[in-house]
Amino acid sequence: MRLKLAAGNWKMNGTGGDLHVLTELAQRHTHPACELLICPPATLLHRAAQAVEGAEIAVGGQDCHPQGNGAYTGDISAQMLIDAGASAVILGHSERRQYHAEADETVCAKALAAQAAGLTVIVCVGESLAQREAAETLQVIAGQIAGSVPDLASGNALVIAYEPIWAIGTGLVPDTGQIAEVHDFMRTRLQDRFGAEIGGQIRLLYGGSVKATNAEEIFAVPNVDGALVGGASLTAADFSPIVRALE
Ligand code: PEP
Repeated sequence: MRLKLAAGNWKMNGTGGDLHVLTELAQRHTHPACELLICPPATLLHRAAQAVEGAEIAVGGQDCHPQGNGAYTGDISAQMLIDAGASAVILGHSERRQYHAEADETVCAKALAAQAAGLTVIVCVGESLAQREAAETLQVIAGQIAGSVPDLASGNALVIAYEPIWAIGTGLVPDTGQIAEVHDFMRTRLQDRFGAEIGGQIRLLYGGSVKATNAEEIFAVPNVDGALVGGASLTAADFSPIVRALE
């Protein structure tokens, strides 16, 4: 049984005044029947971890460096995320791939470092609109999984988020048939590569304009084990109904 996961990606949003969102979530979900994770900006990570102490909410980073330490100005290592209270990290988000030119090999190196440090790794994959229109979606996803997902010993610490780039922050959402096609495809690829047991343990999230109004429909799709949520994770009022739809 894969434990469902509701993960919020705050991106470059949030300062100390927004930590009340975490305490509100903690009050609303005292015994969540799914895993709840919020990934705030790095500047908030430590305070976020303190804000959810004792609650059933985990906090995570949005990126990490492949090296443990060194002369990498502005970067943050996996160990540093753990030191700040993180238990997970999002890697290879399309905004990192686009604005920071992160290739699959970089994402894979980061994922290896994060796994070695003991973090749960959420690797993001997803096609552009041009790639979907050219019927290249499955080929793109296969390439990203092959290139960005490291070899692993345990499927529990790896999560893959399917995030079509054209659905992120746009209000556009693939239909459930399109989501099912990609998630079934990812499951098959992972089981082919890692074997039925480990490949069956890896959680597959859908991400891209998930909201209270579409969450239930998306979560009913087979092989959708939860969501990676951007905009709608910024307030407890928006995120809570999504968590409820997963429970
Ligand atoms: C994201 O960027 O991970 C995301 C899913 O964003 P949104 O929910 O705002 O589309």
